[in-house]
Amino acid sequence: MSFSRFNLNPAVLEGIEAMGYTKPTPIQEQAIPVILEGRDLLACAQTGTGKTAAFMLPILSLLSAEEHDASSVNTLVIVPTRELAMQIDQQVEGFSYFAPVSSIAVYGGNDGSNWDRQRQALEHGAEIIVATPGRLMQHIQMGYVNLKGVQHLVLDEADRMLDMGFYDDIMAIIAYLPKQRQTLMFSATMPPNIRKLAKSILVEPVEINL
Ligand code: AMP
Repeated sequence: MSFSRFNLNPAVLEGIEAMGYTKPTPIQEQAIPVILEGRDLLACAQTGTGKTAAFMLPILSLLSAEEHDASSVNTLVIVPTRELAMQIDQQVEGFSYFAPVSSIAVYGGNDGSNWDRQRQALEHGAEIIVATPGRLMQHIQMGYVNLKGVQHLVLDEADRMLDMGFYDDIMAIIAYLPKQRQTLMFSATMPPNIRKLAKSILVEPVEINL
């Protein structure tokens, strides 16, 4: 099957073509229709399976049809590492080439100019934020970012984030989000602490196990 079988926005489809993707991977085949329907999702998927496109393509498609202010955050993606934050942010730029959105990667590090750059970008506003939990929490506490308009939340590599001790930051961030939202959780493994987290933040999720 091809991507055109999904009910994706035409501009998003153009972006996929430009990136040279012709056939959806199994996680994309299963996750894209579920996300387009607006359902919550719990997906057991490894890195390298195409999971970034599996959540980003339908979100970009939904976002383009949703009423929102271009300077308020519509989608928040929480990831364990700065490398992953940068990688996802770059993929967003590729996919949204024909349907531009503003996105920013927010991650920790010792570099002071990095902090200022992120703060300025956050104050200016972005539709998509891809962030590591600790650094995002700092920006929230300083009042640099408003998450009241978030409609889609993604937790990527959730098991890794819990292993790294980010549980409290994740729960603190979620407390700033609207209760009415779509939440998607991706994890390579499904230990009891991941099941517990899923139960507390997902509403009647569709489960995908690959
Ligand atoms: P991910 O699992 O999201 O880190 O993706 C792994 C790699 O596969 C990335 O380099 C993607 O650009 C690539 N990729 C994802 N989906 C597809 C697809 N449907 N066709 C070709 N390459 C893809």
